[in-house]
Amino acid sequence: MTERLRADACVIGTGAGGAPVAKELAEGGMSVVMLEEGPGFTTDDFDARPRNMISRIYRDAGQVTTVGNVPIVLPLGRGVGGTTMINSGTCFRTPARVLEMWSERFGLDELNPGELDPYYSRVEREIGVSQVTPELAGNNAAVVKRGADALGWHGDYLFRNARGCVGSGVCAFGCPTSAKQHMGLTYVPRAVAAGATLRTDTKARRIVMRGGRARGVEADGLSVDCDHVVVACGSIYTPLFLRRQGLGLDSGELGRNLAIHPATGVRALFAEEIDMARGVPQSYYIDEFAGEGIMFEGAAGPPDYAAMSFPFAGERHRELMLRYKNIAQFGLMVSDSSRGFVRERFGHAEIRYDLNAEDTARFKRGVELLAELYWAAGAEVVYTPVEGVDELRDGELEPLRRRRVRPRDFTLMAFHPLGTARADARPDRGVVDAGLRLHGCQGVYVADGSVVPSSLGVNPQLTIMALSTRLGYSLLGKDVPLEEASRLRPGGLAGTA
Ligand SMILES: Cc1cc2nc3c(=O)[nH]c(=O)nc-3n(C[C@H](O)[C@H](O)[C@H](O)COP(=O)(O)OP(=O)(O)OC[C@H]3O[C@@H](n4cnc5c(N)ncnc54)[C@H](O)[C@@H]3O)c2cc1C
Ligand code: SF4
Repeated sequence: MTERLRADACVIGTGAGGAPVAKELAEGGMSVVMLEEGPGFTTDDFDARPRNMISRIYRDAGQVTTVGNVPIVLPLGRGVGGTTMINSGTCFRTPARVLEMWSERFGLDELNPGELDPYYSRVEREIGVSQVTPELAGNNAAVVKRGADALGWHGDYLFRNARGCVGSGVCAFGCPTSAKQHMGLTYVPRAVAAGATLRTDTKARRIVMRGGRARGVEADGLSVDCDHVVVACGSIYTPLFLRRQGLGLDSGELGRNLAIHPATGVRALFAEEIDMARGVPQSYYIDEFAGEGIMFEGAAGPPDYAAMSFPFAGERHRELMLRYKNIAQFGLMVSDSSRGFVRERFGHAEIRYDLNAEDTARFKRGVELLAELYWAAGAEVVYTPVEGVDELRDGELEPLRRRRVRPRDFTLMAFHPLGTARADARPDRGVVDAGLRLHGCQGVYVADGSVVPSSLGVNPQLTIMALSTRLGYSLLGKDVPLEEASRLRPGGLAGTA
């Protein structure tokens, strides 16, 4: 039997995009129903074992991959909190230069640093954003900082949404101590405390439209009558959900413009003990080359994660694992100019993405720079993610520099799908407007990574949450939360939006 609910608003998805708007609306006095396709997990469910957790809390057991000139693994979370449940907790505001570009290219003048500041500040307070301390960052960050300092490259400890973090090193597999302030621990329970109804294991199937405006949502075993529908299924599933019912098609941009911030990692062997299992895995960044679209951020993990991701096989893999405690690893993320698209094929998401020549060159340069950094930090061996140059010794960089690389020569992952229902003030160029309202449609909004119209060069969760909070305020007709004075220190990138 289908249950029937009546609400002012229905929010589909409980990740970085869905949870903040649901909580703001509920606290503002609206009746809200939240639908989440995945289950609800508690901290007790997170056993700190990557092998177990990936199959439980990642969509398709972590096997979501792009199709194109290089396969790129694109993990997504599925459950209350969405991908914030499995993310690293890094918090950046979108740099001012990117917001300026949005204004010029997409007509999004409203989304300027001054306008967004109170929303960012509100989110930062709600999720407890603070800077990682050197002690918590651990040796994996310490050696990278040593290398960066020796080379005179700018970097700093990252800002994160964690309270009482003990540096257990498994953020990406569900924080086992409740330190990481993901949506399932913050915004979702606060929405419920304010009266919102949460339905887990409930997939939304369609928006009920009458007379050009939203009248409700039909989901598995549930039907919600409402006047406002917020779609927040994430950048891969939101365009498929809208397309299935013929919504958001006017501009021809739905499902297109997919940016993913492709990423890779470089490893190095040190004489000293590193022990990547201790400390915050993503705790330090180097933005010296951000102007070139290259950002370095920590990426580390416990031995069973390392065993899955280390290169080599057989005896070489065994040797590397035996030296696990002496291995360091750092990530490199490219602010991509490549664009892909998402479509539905045989009931599944097909994600097409080709890495272009410009981004391929960025990866080559980024790997060279990280190798240089590890030599400056005193590494004995550097392991690169480049086919044919997997191991460097004695400070050498030439084999890497000489190598002509193709996209498929890199081992890549991506964590930030964006742009598939991009915001653009012009209905013929974008899917939603600056206020996240679906162009040409009454009562339907999109609030997730899909509205972000370009690569950001920094991690996106804070921006998605700030835009979602802004949507909540606008639907309530509430004034901007000016009481939320900017809290973070002005020098940090997190304070520069
Ligand atoms: C390993 C990893 C590490 C990351 N680290 C960081 C980081 O340190 N900092 C950062 O800023 N970002 C990080 N990210 C990215 C960040 O978490 C995402 O950008 C963000 O969570 C995206 O928010 P979203 O709302 O678009 O989608 P999601 O958070 O993925 O939420 C979408 C939700 O919608 C649900 N859903 C989908 N379809 C339906 C349907 N039909 N009905 C009901 N529910 C549905 C899904 O199950 C999911 O829970 C990381 C990502 C990964 C994978
Ligand atoms: S490092 Fe901190 S935030 Fe990450 S899982 Fe461990 S305790 Fe949680």
